Amino acid sequence: MRVGGNAPISVQSMLTTDTRNVQESLSEIMRLADGGCDIIRLAVPDAEAAAALKDICLHSPIPVVADIHYDYRLALAAIRAGANAIRINPGNMREEEGVREIATLARKRSVPIRVGVNSGSISKEIRNLYDGVNAQSLAYSAYQACQALEKFGFEDICVSAKASSPLMMIETYRMLSEHFDYPLHLGVTEAGTEREGTIRSAVGIGSLLVDGIGDTIRVSLTADPIQEVKVGISILRSLGLRDEGVRLISCPTCGRTEVDLMNMAAELEEKLSLIKAPLTVALMGCSVNGPGEAREADVGLAGGRGFFLLFRKGDIIRKVSQEEAIPALMAEIAKLLEESEQTNGI
Ligand code: SF4
Repeated sequence: MRVGGNAPISVQSMLTTDTRNVQESLSEIMRLADGGCDIIRLAVPDAEAAAALKDICLHSPIPVVADIHYDYRLALAAIRAGANAIRINPGNMREEEGVREIATLARKRSVPIRVGVNSGSISKEIRNLYDGVNAQSLAYSAYQACQALEKFGFEDICVSAKASSPLMMIETYRMLSEHFDYPLHLGVTEAGTEREGTIRSAVGIGSLLVDGIGDTIRVSLTADPIQEVKVGISILRSLGLRDEGVRLISCPTCGRTEVDLMNMAAELEEKLSLIKAPLTVALMGCSVNGPGEAREADVGLAGGRGFFLLFRKGDIIRKVSQEEAIPALMAEIAKLLEESEQTNGI
């Protein structure tokens, strides 16, 4: 998978399993790949994990990035094990000779390197130079990390410089995009729990993508990594950068609502998350905006007094009860998908 240039923006996540456990790691990769994850990163903290990487890379359906800190020998082992890319921070590898060996082997095997720095890993010298942890010190830290590889003629680099503050992260990446031609991996690091982290990531990553900055993204959440993938895809879909999957339009409900929309929306969102085809589905509470939105969607429901009108491609199909509504909607979607498969494209 290509990252950068005109390649589509890819969604990444990171395994929560112990890399030494090949079976568990592979099953988590399969689950994330099924959910739309394009690239998976995993931690390689020791030689045993580097050894397990071989089987994982062999069977993974998506590219594997080995995340290595401190020990350059683990980076070499990961490249030899078949990692599609590695992520290092040359700043925390003390031996320059080790960085040279990594650059040499990675070039020989055409393995890209993501240089990843974080607001928490800026050296004391750089912090002193730029008056603490800020966008300037973070960007300079990334610049210095790239130089550590460029010095040995290595330029197949992807850069990340993440901060837990979306504002700092936005400012940093804007600076990087002005000075680097390298692909940029965007993320708000340690973004927090599912709700707060989703918002911070959407603000940080989304603001940059709107300006055309960024080539690959990772949403970091203290949650099941499948949520990271779902949020990443939603960010791309919100910006028109990915059309795969269902865009659900649902109203917030109000005093006019006479159907149980909130529970239905939650149930529908879960069911629709399994569909990969690009579809727009509307679930609306009443006749004020409901029919308009439902008519515009591929398939839609507009609520009334305890019933719904079911729409498909702008036409009313029939009136359905509250209980029938979701099964009827899903049946229309299934028919639509079947027909589009026959005619090749929705
Ligand atoms: S569509 Fe109807 S029920 Fe939903 S928020 Fe608008 S007015 Fe209220």
